[in-house]
Amino acid sequence: MSTPEKAPVTAASTPSGESCQPAPVNFIRARVAEDIASGKNAGRVMTRFPPEPNGYLHIGHAKSICLNFGLAKEFGGVTNLRFDDTNPAKEEVEYVESIMRDVKWLGFDWENRLYYASDYFQQLYDFAETLIKQGKAYVDDQTAEDIRANRGTLKEPGKNSPWRDRSVEENLDLFRRMRAGEFPDGARVLRAKIDMASPNVVMRDPALYRIKHVHHHRTGDAWCIYPMYDFAHCLSDSIEGITHSICTLEFENNRPLYDWTLDQLGVFHPQQIEFARLNLTYTVLSKRKLIQLVREGITTGWDDPRMPTLSGIRRRGYTPEALRDFCERIGVARCDNMVEFALLEHCLREDLNARAPRAMGVLRPLKVVIENYPEDQVDEFDFPWHPEADMGTRKVPFSKVLYIEQDDFREEPPKGYHRLYPGNEVRLRYAYYITCVGVVKDDAGNVTEVRCTYDPESKGGGTPDGRKVKGTLHWVSAAHALDAEVRLYDLLFTKPNPGAEDDFTSCINPASLEVVQGKLEPALADATPGWHCQFERLGYFCADEKDCKPGAPVFNRTAALRDTWGKIEKKQGGGK
Ligand code: ATP
Ligand code: MG
Repeated sequence: MSTPEKAPVTAASTPSGESCQPAPVNFIRARVAEDIASGKNAGRVMTRFPPEPNGYLHIGHAKSICLNFGLAKEFGGVTNLRFDDTNPAKEEVEYVESIMRDVKWLGFDWENRLYYASDYFQQLYDFAETLIKQGKAYVDDQTAEDIRANRGTLKEPGKNSPWRDRSVEENLDLFRRMRAGEFPDGARVLRAKIDMASPNVVMRDPALYRIKHVHHHRTGDAWCIYPMYDFAHCLSDSIEGITHSICTLEFENNRPLYDWTLDQLGVFHPQQIEFARLNLTYTVLSKRKLIQLVREGITTGWDDPRMPTLSGIRRRGYTPEALRDFCERIGVARCDNMVEFALLEHCLREDLNARAPRAMGVLRPLKVVIENYPEDQVDEFDFPWHPEADMGTRKVPFSKVLYIEQDDFREEPPKGYHRLYPGNEVRLRYAYYITCVGVVKDDAGNVTEVRCTYDPESKGGGTPDGRKVKGTLHWVSAAHALDAEVRLYDLLFTKPNPGAEDDFTSCINPASLEVVQGKLEPALADATPGWHCQFERLGYFCADEKDCKPGAPVFNRTAALRDTWGKIEKKQGGGK
């Protein structure tokens, strides 16, 4: 018997209703639609996703990916994947590979349009020479400190560099010698000649090229000068013919420089459009902080299931469908905001509720012995994998000795407790009614075994006399159970905005991971890594991508069943 796949996403079960609802309006979508209507770029739409390969992608990047690929697709356009690899010191091949894997996993395809900004190094260099020849760029010999000191402030204008009026010939000569490796790191920079008194500090003669004698992961030692982001980015967009260059709000002040560079050179001019980056409660989404979590061993790596990286949440059990739904729902804004982590979990639960097979697993096992059940008898039940979707059934054995959850038994039940306690009758999910008739304790007085009787007439979960019981428990047959390591993950931080703390590592949740040895129903023996299911009454789980092996199952808790966001939506009469 094999475990079923998740049900396919159909129009009826698509949580976002992708196929049956018009897409919500966002201002970027409206701009693109306007451009098409006005015939700009001959109606063509081309976007790009431009990650810097200096870390793994996170949930914030997913928003950018969904936006770029989603918009292009909606308007019949295409999207390029471009590695913004202009800063060789921090970039690694491992990151390039993980980024490609994650974009594909999220469900997007750049087809044959994979580019690297480093592919354009020669063209970018030539553009820089053109600017020099136009008298629009100069080589500055000031030290980095002097450049900073002379930049001025928001209130005061900057001061012109003493080297600002060098002749074109001298600038060309020096720039070529920079390239030839004649000068050490930091000795000179190439700067745009714009306006040291500009009210926008970005426009005060920004650096275009710096000297860095550093090996590059793709171009090797061919270059010892590297272009700055502001110079490389707009020109890479232009070279590729990008029509809409979508980026986050912190680049708003850089837009005049983006436009200036393209205008001076008279090349194809994409439109930069900014949107607010995603911030999520109980999460940090800054690469610098994520790198710190990995380097300091606070998490086990980039793909630790508690990390907000795409590889982390994939391993945790998040689905690309849930993430895409989430990105669509949060929309696109022009001002910074903070999105509730509970909304992300809600999208996940909606997706998995519709598509994840159900199974039984006991996380903290307590032995139950059914006194009147014959020693060698085994009942085999056929249970559906899903209550609604057609996923077939699996065989679930029932025998004299079972495991239930420790929490589902109380020797002295609190008020309103409807689960198992001495004298009380409960339903074992889909199987039989049992009544507790006694307990066995160890020397320390702990209950080690619960003694019960069962009603053979209640097979399948009902009785001929129609009597009702309030509690329904999940269970597994002890003799058939699989031993499994189950990793119970929770939020990584205890504060809603860890990034606002002086030291964000001071609010790490000490209970973000608890490992238990559970007992699972035998049908899960062949769960393949990444397989999802709902353990009834407990939550959504998935077989760990790395550590789950045949015969040695390891499951991660993706999310508990409780849905705080769903409740909020209901209260507000919401829903979508
Ligand atoms: P760094 O933290 O190193 O500045 P970054 O987060 O900007 O990096 P990039 O690799 O430069 O990461 O990002 C690629 C693209 O993803 C950029 O267009 C960036 O604007 C976008 N992006 C990054 N973080 C978010 C976020 N939290 N929300 C939305 N988009 C984001
Ligand atoms: Mg960036």
